[in-house]
Parts: sequence; C-alpha cells; structure tokens
Amino acid sequence: MTNHELWQAALGEIELNISKTNFITWFRNTDIIKAKDNSVTIAVPNAFSKEWLENKYNKLILRALRNVSPEAKDVDFVISTLPSSELIPALIGASAKSTKRKGTEEIGQPFQEFEINKETHLNPKYTFDNFIVGSFNELAQAAARAITKNLGKLYNPLFIYGGVGLGKTHLIQAVGNEIVKNYNNEKKVCYISSEKFTSELVDALYNGQVEEFKNTYRQIDVLIIDDIQFLAGKEKTQEEFFHTFNALYQNNKQIILSSDRPPQAISTLEERLKSRFSGGMIADISLPDLESRIAILKEKAHEKNFEINDEILNHIANYIQKNIRELEGALNRIIISAKIHNSIPSLPEISKILSNITSPLSKKISYKIIIQAVADFYDISTNHLINRCRKKELVYPRQVAMFLIREELKSSYPFIGEKLGGRDHTTVMYACEKITKELENNESLQQEINLIKEHFYNT
Ligand code: ADP
Ligand code: MG
Repeated sequence: MTNHELWQAALGEIELNISKTNFITWFRNTDIIKAKDNSVTIAVPNAFSKEWLENKYNKLILRALRNVSPEAKDVDFVISTLPSSELIPALIGASAKSTKRKGTEEIGQPFQEFEINKETHLNPKYTFDNFIVGSFNELAQAAARAITKNLGKLYNPLFIYGGVGLGKTHLIQAVGNEIVKNYNNEKKVCYISSEKFTSELVDALYNGQVEEFKNTYRQIDVLIIDDIQFLAGKEKTQEEFFHTFNALYQNNKQIILSSDRPPQAISTLEERLKSRFSGGMIADISLPDLESRIAILKEKAHEKNFEINDEILNHIANYIQKNIRELEGALNRIIISAKIHNSIPSLPEISKILSNITSPLSKKISYKIIIQAVADFYDISTNHLINRCRKKELVYPRQVAMFLIREELKSSYPFIGEKLGGRDHTTVMYACEKITKELENNESLQQEINLIKEHFYNT
C-alpha cells in the first residue's frame, strides 16, 4: 500500500466520526508524506490545521491509521503545501450521513420552526420577550439590555459566562435580535461560534483570503462570539481574534462574548486577551431557583400552545434543577407523550418519563465519565487506570484523573482514592497538589486538561 492509499483508507474512517464541515475544514489537502519506523508524518497546509489536528484529532487519526496499518504507533504533522486541491474522494459518503443526522435532530426537536437568518446567523426565536429573568441571571440580562441602547460605549466587550444550558446563547442572541429590530437593520450584526470563527479563518488562509476575512469582520457593528472558551489553546486563532477584536474595539464596535467560565479561568487564553475581556463588563448566569424554573416551563409550554397544570410544572421543576435545556427537553417529552396518548400523563407517568430521560438528556458528569475520558486521552484502558498497578506510565494519567474528579465533582479524597485502585487519601491529596502546582506554568498540561474536559463535557 502506498502512503497515499493508507491515508485515503484512514480518511474513510475519520470521515465517519466527525461532521462533514469539520472533515472538509481540517482534512482537506492533507496527505501522508512519510511512514517509517511505526511513525507516520502527515503534511498539512498551514499552522491552523496543524494545531487543530494535533490538539483535537490526534487520537482519532491514530486510531484510524492503526485500523488500516496496525504497526502505526504515532503521528506527527508538518506544514507543507501539497499539489492543489486534493479533495478527498471519501466525501461522497459524508452527505448520506449528514442527511441521516438531520433526520434524528428533527425527531429530537419537534418544535423547531424558526429559520436562522442568513446574514446575521441569529435564530429569531431567541428574544428578550421570551427570556425569563430571575436573580440567577438578572445582572447578565440587565447588562445585555443596556448595551442595545448604547452600542460599543457602555460595556465593551460584554462577557457572559455560566454553565451548560443556562441561557448564554439565548441571551447573547437576544441582544443581536433586539439590535437588528431597534436599528431597522442599519447595524450589521454577526453571531458566530468560536469554532466556526476558527474554521472560517482557516478557510481564508487556505484560499489566500485573509485580508477579505479581516475586512468582512471589520465592517461589522456588533460581533457576537459564542463559547469563547474553545479558543483556548489555539494560539493562531487567538492571535487573529486579538487583531479583529482590537480593530473593532478601536472603532467603538460592540463585542459580545460568552464562555462557560470567567476569562481568568480559561487557562490557555493569552494574557492580553484576558485583560481585554476584563476591560468590559463580565456577568455570570448561575443556577435558576425554583420559581424561575417554573416560570421558564410556563413560558415554554405557552410557546408550544400546551396547557399544563401547576402541579405537573412543579414536579418537573423540582426534578430538573441545573440545566434549562434539560428542563425544556423534559417538557417536550411530556408534550409528545400527551399527543401520542391524547391525554395529559398522570403524575406517576410523568415521574416515569422523567426518570427515563435524565440519563440521555442530562449528561451528568460522573467519576466514571472522567476516568473514561482520561483513559481515552492517554490511550490506556480504564482498567489500568483503576487497578493497583504501579507502572510508571500509569501514574501520571491517574494523577490527572484524581485531579479532575476533585476539581469537577468536588468528591472527597478518600472516595477518589477508593475508585482509583483503593489508594490512600493522602495519595490523592498529593496528586491533586502536584497537578495544581504543575498547571501554574506548564502550558501543555493546561492544554491537556482542557482537551480532556472538552471531551467529557461535549461528547
Ligand atoms: P447555553 O448557551 O448557556 O448552553 P442556551 O442559551 O442554549 O444555553 O439555553 C438552553 C435552552 O434553555 C434554550 O432553549 C433557551 O431558550 C432556554 N433558556 C435558557 N435560559 C432561559 C431563560 N432565562 N428564559 C427562557 N428560556 C431560557
Ligand atoms: Mg450555548
């Protein structure tokens, strides 16, 4: 098999595991230029692709290569320009897959009836009118409303942060929609996820259109970037973002950002970006209280023209406490059940529905999920991680797992010790301290930890 054939075979598998857009963005114009001594060298067109393939797809690539050629042990990436446009033949299969995926989404979200605006990329369903305000999001909402009347001057940037499913996207899109409405389309608003921002940038680089890319962004009056934490660890993207940010900022253009944590806690975010972000307004969204959860459910039921009594709403709101998206998901299931059976389910039936959906709907992070993610990341089996074996290559991943369980779940030291091979709590304390210390000035460890987190929170 030639290198090229090996790569084509591996691509065939990679393609099945990621979205079509990502596949085209990151794997276009790549090829194997060397396969020797169990090591495979892949040529990539630019530094962005290199960064992304290394950080995000390394394991997937290795796995795919091994399936074709078991002796492959590691991969590295070099920047090199390949003969133009080697569009990957395997792409044909991808379209069939994406159709299927769309089908499932439609079943999952039967009430989606809004179209995303092609210019602003805003979803018109996110407005202030249907955004419930309680003490948990009051400040963020007030700041968001305030900037719609004072673009670029009052709070710039506006930085909204909070956990998954708590309304960040809804709120920052509501700002965008409100501005479009209030200014009669005279202000150019653009909403984009940080992942999309990065891939557009890569495309621009690839096509030699960086100037055009920059110009497009410089003409924007309101730039809204969602989930900015995903810029962490992507130096090149951060660099470009920084320039775009400055260009907009200096021209008093409004910038709105969201993240799952405050700027200072995004470990591999460049200092100058952090300090820029901190120069505006930072507001958090915390967990909604019971009254707010009930109010949100009422609003959602109303939007769906569904009559539901307070007892049932109370029941759902008591059951699901930490994620508004799940709250909505639970309500949707109940509505579907009511439609199928032509009657509102009874309370015991509702309890049953709720207990059935909590696992797939709420990706509650458990210590097992963290262990699995760490094992995946370091390419070892979970069994190795949780047994007593003292092999050197297992010690470090195990310490990372201990650290993450402590950090993310606040589990007790003895509990963690017990789950990771029946170790003493002092061992766990030592591990956590060690990793915490190391994180202070070890950037690659910071990046590893972020990638592992990204893995268990997002997949
Ligand atoms: P995040 O971006 O923080 O993960 P989203 O903005 O996607 O969360 O919110 C998840 C779901 O919850 C959306 O359907 C959104 O409309 C709904 N939601 C969140 N907060 C509120 C709120 N305060 N009022 C009404 N709906 C909300
Ligand atoms: Mg979001």
